[in-house]
Amino acid sequence: MPTFVPLAPPERQPENLRVPTPAPKTVGWAIVGLGQLALEEVMPAFDECKISQPVALVSGHRDKAEKVAQTYGIDAKNIYSYENYDDLKSNPAVQAIYIILPNNMHAEYTIRGFAAGKHVLCEKPMSVTVDEATSMIDAGKKAQKLLMIAYRLRFEPFNKKAIEICRSGEIGDIQTISASNCQVVQAPNIRLSKTLGGGVLGDVGVYCLNAARYLTGEEPVEVTAMLHQPKEDPRFREVPANFVWTMRFPSGAIANCDCSFNASDSRRYRVQGTKGFVDLDQAFSYRGQELHVSKPPAKTQMELTPVNHFAAEMEHFLTCILENKPPLTPGEDGLADMLAMAAIEQAAATGQTVKVG
Ligand code: NAD
Repeated sequence: MPTFVPLAPPERQPENLRVPTPAPKTVGWAIVGLGQLALEEVMPAFDECKISQPVALVSGHRDKAEKVAQTYGIDAKNIYSYENYDDLKSNPAVQAIYIILPNNMHAEYTIRGFAAGKHVLCEKPMSVTVDEATSMIDAGKKAQKLLMIAYRLRFEPFNKKAIEICRSGEIGDIQTISASNCQVVQAPNIRLSKTLGGGVLGDVGVYCLNAARYLTGEEPVEVTAMLHQPKEDPRFREVPANFVWTMRFPSGAIANCDCSFNASDSRRYRVQGTKGFVDLDQAFSYRGQELHVSKPPAKTQMELTPVNHFAAEMEHFLTCILENKPPLTPGEDGLADMLAMAAIEQAAATGQTVKVG
């Protein structure tokens, strides 16, 4: 009989077995506003972060905040209300604040965040007015803290690849861009309230505008625009349902953009160059991007590994804080969109071509 040899004794682990110890998550966030985006996308994204950790919550609803704190292992003493938000100043565990509030609160909470000595990541659209956007940038400079606008698509591989292709000349010189971002919005929703800074242009149109800017690497010089506000539909008594606009860029490229709160979900762009074109379907969605590059008759689908957009943007911001370098999408990027949107609104109101800025 052969002697019994244990082949894989569970009680005796190999001496050279390396048990990984995850690096501690070193940088703490305060999440301000616990609405749909914060709860469905941002909080779960922390699981995919290496250095970001949620350590504080700011909410007007204590019960909800306590449940969220429990789920994510946040100490209940680090739950703040909008009234004692400024007390974050004396909480050294928080280095960065993520503002996920209605748009009309972005400027105030960003400026108060800087006064509390923190770096601020603010959701899009940056603000309601150009003046607010400028005050936010000034407050960051005065506090010597970083301001970043949460343009998550700049940190995900499909939009990044599209930028690389468009700017490298691979499809020739850009002639036209068409971009569209549509969804159906039902009441009640902050997006339908003018008082809360809602509206289709700032909410979803800004993605088309931002994309035309990041794909060309240029700033628009003039715009034309039209809107439709079906006031007989009670959802649209304060804000338009649809915006369509064109933008001319210094190179001669022209972008044609549309957005809607009353059209079925569709989020895409096409960049047409002298030698080919790029199509990105689901261009502005949280996931599911499909990128095709065509140089007729050839058409190639790009295979890229998707990432969590929110994890990628938060980690980028913290890396900038740790390495003391400016973020890819600073306040000035948000301000450029605010200036273009002001021109688009004026063009729609007057029927004239309007210069940007
Ligand atoms: P939401 O309505 O679901 O959440 C807003 C939160 O603000 C809620 O928790 C609400 O209680 C709170 N709040 C505080 N004061 C309020 C007031 N006076 N009136 C109404 N709500 C008040 O909205 P959301 O979809 O989470 O959007 C929040 C922000 O995030 C907006 O700026 C929006 O543009 C942005 N957003 C960005 C993306 C993205 O992909 N980057 C996606 C969705 C939303």
